[in-house]
This record gives sequence, C-alpha cells and structure tokens, in this order.
Amino acid sequence: MATRRLIILGSTGSIGTQALEVVTHLNALHERGGFSHRFEVVGLAAGKGAALLGQQAQRFGVRDLAIAEPNGVSLGDGRVRVGSDAAEKLVREVECDLVLAAIVGSAGLPATLAAVELGRDVALANKETLVAAGSLVVPTSHRTGAKLLPVDSEHAAVWQCLQGVSTEAPALRSAPRGVRRVILTASGGPFRTASRDEIAGATREQALKHPTWTMGAKVTIDSASLMNKALEIIEAHWLFALPGEKIEAAVHPQSAAHAVVEFDDASMVAQLATPDMRGPIQSAFTCPNRVASLVTPLAMGSGDGVRAARSQSLQFEAPDGSRFPLLHTAYRVIREGGTSGAIVNAANEEAVLAFLREDSMKFGRIAELVLEAIESVAVTRLTCLGDALEADRRAREWVRSRLARRIG
Ligand code: NAD
Ligand code: MG
Repeated sequence: MATRRLIILGSTGSIGTQALEVVTHLNALHERGGFSHRFEVVGLAAGKGAALLGQQAQRFGVRDLAIAEPNGVSLGDGRVRVGSDAAEKLVREVECDLVLAAIVGSAGLPATLAAVELGRDVALANKETLVAAGSLVVPTSHRTGAKLLPVDSEHAAVWQCLQGVSTEAPALRSAPRGVRRVILTASGGPFRTASRDEIAGATREQALKHPTWTMGAKVTIDSASLMNKALEIIEAHWLFALPGEKIEAAVHPQSAAHAVVEFDDASMVAQLATPDMRGPIQSAFTCPNRVASLVTPLAMGSGDGVRAARSQSLQFEAPDGSRFPLLHTAYRVIREGGTSGAIVNAANEEAVLAFLREDSMKFGRIAELVLEAIESVAVTRLTCLGDALEADRRAREWVRSRLARRIG
C-alpha cells in the first residue's frame, strides 16, 4: 500500500514533534518521487499540552485524538478521547498500519501493548514498555506478527549492524547467529567525570544539562544516572533475544557510534551517525529502505570541508559502576524476570518525578530510592498486563512513602 496510516502516541513530546518533522519531510520526498510511500497521520495522543495537540491536529488534518488531561482546552470538532486510557482507546478504535510509541514512561504500556495485540507494527521509542512487560509484549508480537521497530538510537543502530545476519524484524525469536556481544554506547551524561560526592549532591539544573542530546526531561535525567543505559540493556535483551551476558555498555562521549556488534570472528560492526533522533525515527518509518534524511552526516572525509575541521577523535571507556550503581540493575532484572522490571522502572520514574519537582532533592537520592525499592518491593509472576500495572503501582507507592517520611 502506498499510503501508510500512522498513529503518534506522545505527539507533543521531543520524539513526537521530531516524528512530525520526519513525516513532513518524507511526504515532500514522496511528492518529488524520492520515496515510494506517503504517510497519513490518522491519530495523535498526548498527556497534557492540549493546545499543541490541537495545532498538530489542524496542521496534519487529524480528526482522531486522545488526551489524558485536557485542562479545559477545547480540541475543536475532532473525535477526542479523554482520560488516562484515552491513548489505548485511540489505538483500539482507529485503523492504522504503524504506531509510533513515544509516550514517556510506563503510562505508554497499555496503548503500546494494544497496538501489538492488534498486529500493528510499532515504531518503539517507549523503552519502558519492554522494561516493564517485555515478557508479555514480545510473545504477543510473535503471535500477531507485529514488528517492533526500534527508535531508540542504540537499538536502531544494533539492528542496522545486524542487517545481513538476520533478515527477521525485531523482536527476534532467537539470538542472531555469530554475535558474541552487543555494546550499547552512552554519552556518559553531564557527570561523566564527576566524583561520587559531586554526583550525589548534584542539582536539577546540573542533571538536566546533557552534553550531546536534546531530549525530554525524564530520559535526560536517566542519561545522567546511566539508568537510561540500564533500561536500554533490558530493551536490547527483549528486542534481540540476547542474554544479559552478551549486552554491555561503553561510555563514548562523542555520541557518534550508537552501538557496536562484535561477532564470533572478532569483527566489530558499528553504526555511526550524528546524534539526531530524526535519523532513527526515519529509519523505523522507512525500513528496509534508506532515503534522504534531515540529518547532517558526521564529518569525516577530506571532502567535508569546514565540518571536517570540527571532527573529533572517538573515545570508548568502561562505565564506572561504583559512581553509577543503577547501571547494574539491568542484569538483575534480566535474571529475576517476573515483575522485577516493572518495579525498577516505576521506582525510577517516581524518584525522577520527585527530583524534577522538589527543589531540595539531591541527585544521589534517585539511585538510593531505586536500589532500596529493588530490595523491598516483592517481585511476583507476570502473566498479564494487570500484574505489571499492579507491580508498578506498588513500587510507586513505596517510593512515595519513603519520600514522605524523609520530608515530613
Ligand atoms: P517527552 O517528555 O518530551 O514527551 C512525552 C510525550 O508523552 C508527550 O507528548 C506527553 O504529552 C505524552 N504523555 C505523557 N503521559 C501521557 C499519557 N498518560 N497519555 C498520553 N500521552 C502521554 O519525552 P520524550 O523525550 O519524547 O521521550 C518519549 C519516549 O521516547 C521515552 O520513553 C524516552 O525514553 C524515549 N526516547 C526518547 C529519546 C529522545 O531523544 N527524546 C531518545 C530515545 C528514546
Ligand atoms: Mg537511547
């Protein structure tokens, strides 16, 4: 089909707004004969920010909308679903070919799982979905044939490195042959060279200063604690059917190489690109085709002129687990299974929310809370969405009660 009908969940966020830029770009390319498909945006969902949602709906001619908290803003004459399950309703009620899952946090899980249940291909930015419920989402995708096309830059990179090894789209059913390990890169965030004490006492402003990427607040804080890399190791486990021992992280401050795959013959294949999320968003939208994009390539060759003058050398360092203790939670979650991912993820979300809200909260408190929650909140079996949501609720409640005790 030459038209691909697209639903964007989280359209007003960092990924969502960049996705709409990519849609505009690809449709212009299609008009000029540069790409076979055109995209029709058939649904948009957001949490708050109803005014921007309304503008997007008007600009892209979208009638089916979802908003969790409209806060009194009217969204015109479209078909608007309202409330915490609005995004899931949108997915269930509106026919489409592809869903971009770009809601932040486990709030995105029910709608993303619904898309997978309906057999829709999912361009997946919302990594928390796989962390909290990979053991439900992945088998469901195999049953319905829904593809999970990675938007997270590291996973988009791994998938590119595997082309020629595996023709199957993620989530893979078995580990790709000949892969010895996968290395996900991390910029190291604003505290890469900071001491343990400096990290513990850091403020919100310091933690929000990401050196290489511009992203939503939650993922920016996760990048500063390296929790983002822990979430991504779990995400890679589910997308590429790899055991924890085969997934590593490397600190790479230039954010030029996004992932490296090492094969049994000691060859390593890396994917390099300018850190710009419009690249991986587009590759999920157009795969397996490669077409002109909005991203400026990295400078490298002698023909790159002025840009080459700014090119840097590439460094790779082992991450320091003692300064960034959340990194290792990934391996524990992969080992323990059940609701452990839902618990770690929800504890982290709740701690990050508090850090973003409370002026007096220090950065180090996030890691303390998450590590304590892992020891304190009971892990149970995960057999249905309700199990994941219940574990999520218990972990949040636990973090809130700890915070209340400290403050009160
Ligand atoms: P963001 O905070 O900028 O945007 C989040 C979006 O989700 C907003 O549109 C918001 O309105 C919506 N939302 C929140 N709660 C909702 C709810 N209950 N119902 C419906 N919509 C809701 O976040 P972001 O940076 O765009 O990140 C989105 C996801 O993509 C996250 O899972 C993040 O980890 C992942 N990701 C982001 C980047 C990036 O560069 N921003 C890179 C890789 C992965
Ligand atoms: Mg990433």
